[in-house]
Amino acid sequence: MECVFCKIIAGEIPSYRVYEDEGAYAFLDINPIARGHTLVISRAHASKVTELSAQEAAGVALALQKVVRGVERALGPEGLNIFVNQGEVAGQVIPHFHIHVVPRSRGDDVRFVTPTVELSEEEFRELSGAIARAI
Ligand code: AMP
Ligand code: ZN
Repeated sequence: MECVFCKIIAGEIPSYRVYEDEGAYAFLDINPIARGHTLVISRAHASKVTELSAQEAAGVALALQKVVRGVERALGPEGLNIFVNQGEVAGQVIPHFHIHVVPRSRGDDVRFVTPTVELSEEEFRELSGAIARAI
C-alpha cells in the first residue's frame, strides 16, 4: 500500500482527524490554503469519483455535508470553496479521491483566477446534448 491517504486512514501516517465513519475520513490539509482547510476522503481507495461505487460516493457526500457543517459551526467562515482536483492536469497530486473544503473570508488571499471560454449558442446546445446523452 503506497497511498499516503490510505496510510492516513490506517493510522500509519498521523493526521489531524476531524471526522470518520464507515465511508469517509476527514482531516486537516497539512499545507492549508486557509485556516481550517479540510480534506474529506473516501475510505475506499480510488483516484476518481467515477471509480467509487454509488454507495461509496454517496457516503463521501454525506460526510462532506457533516464536515462542512462542523467547519461552519467551529470557524464561522463567510464562505467556503468546496472542490475536487481530478487528474494530474487538474492539479491532483494524491491519487486517492478527496474533496477540499476551504473556509473563505472577505479580503483573504485565496485566488481562483481563470479565463473563461467563449461558446456560441450552437456549441452550448451541442455540449449539453453530448453530456446529457452520455449520462
Ligand atoms: P490535490 O492537489 O487535490 O491532490 O491535493 C492534495 C492535498 O493533500 C494537498 O493540499 C496537500 O497539502 C495535502 N496533503 C498531502 N499529504 C498530506 C498529509 N500527509 N496530511 C494532510 N494533507 C496532506
Ligand atoms: Zn488510497
